Amino acid sequence: MTSAALPLPDLPQMTRDVRALIEIESPSEDLAAVGRVQDRVETWMHELGAQTRRLPGQVRQFTFGEASRPALILMHADTVWPHGTLASMPFRTEGERLYGPGSYDMKGGIVSALHALRLLQAGGWPAGGIEVLLSADEETGSLLSREAVEAAARRARCVLVVEPPVGETHALKTGRKGVGMYSVRVTGVAAHAGNLPEQGASAISEAARLLLEAQALARPERGTTVSVGRIMGGGAVNVIPAHAEFDADLRVSVLEEAERLRRGFEALRPHDPRARLTLSGGLNRPPFERLAGTAALYAQAQRHAHVLGFEVQEAFVGGGSDGNYTAPLSPTLDGLGAPGDGAHAAHEHIRLDRWPQHAALLAALLRDPGVE
Ligand SMILES: [Zn+2]
Repeated sequence: MTSAALPLPDLPQMTRDVRALIEIESPSEDLAAVGRVQDRVETWMHELGAQTRRLPGQVRQFTFGEASRPALILMHADTVWPHGTLASMPFRTEGERLYGPGSYDMKGGIVSALHALRLLQAGGWPAGGIEVLLSADEETGSLLSREAVEAAARRARCVLVVEPPVGETHALKTGRKGVGMYSVRVTGVAAHAGNLPEQGASAISEAARLLLEAQALARPERGTTVSVGRIMGGGAVNVIPAHAEFDADLRVSVLEEAERLRRGFEALRPHDPRARLTLSGGLNRPPFERLAGTAALYAQAQRHAHVLGFEVQEAFVGGGSDGNYTAPLSPTLDGLGAPGDGAHAAHEHIRLDRWPQHAALLAALLRDPGVE
């Protein structure tokens, strides 16, 4: 069921609001600074009538209505940008683009949610209510906030993540790869490279073989990639090296592939019996698979967008978000934030001409997500 189209939110006000958030720098490493963004958002949410609460893990919770079986909005106040970025990358608008650190990922998404809630306020909160979680550490893997996010997802009717839409079509995200990392440390035997090389066991030679074996565990046709992105080892060039290590980034589209990779990494063995290997790491974010609930939410988003006069598309992406944690627990749709481009890049921006319609789409989904 879709009902009449909601009006579009007020773009000049959205622009002022996102500027206020962009101009409070909030790198994940400085939780006090991230807290200042959370404070500002809390003030706005309070003005809208939210019950506000501070949860463990520096998560702010805002609820609207009875919130017995709420639609859950997930958003984060941290950015990847260090203090001082504003000096070289200030807030500015140029034509249809709004620039600034954290604009697209995801202070624009926070403002989308704020204005979607404003659109709904007059008509009363939907049955089951609305819950919003604003976390502080998404960009560093949500170690503090994961528990609160998963607990909220378990009681939610659906989860709407206001990470930005992606690509030239500003597509919603209906799946994301799971993300993990393994570290392999190799200990060999040091020896003089000229006098007694046969007494040495080169950790670098071992690591070189092992990293090729590790990367051979990839199955690109199944969406599984393994990329060694960092390697270190050795010391003086005339010494057979006793130490080497490398770190591998893992991406999987389905959970069983993470299990296969775990077995594969655990089976790695040095070729020289004098060398030793230690392994650490594993899967951090499980894959966000396109389950039936996600498909139903996306179909409803398509219907709402059509009523609003535009078309949406969907995408499966390699990067993770908190949607990876919630997708197995509750129907999850991601990419409902501000359209634009350039996440974590100097050209990060929001597309002003597309932004209000995406915020109105979020409001329509909150009012009528089409899933029970
Ligand atoms: Zn983000």
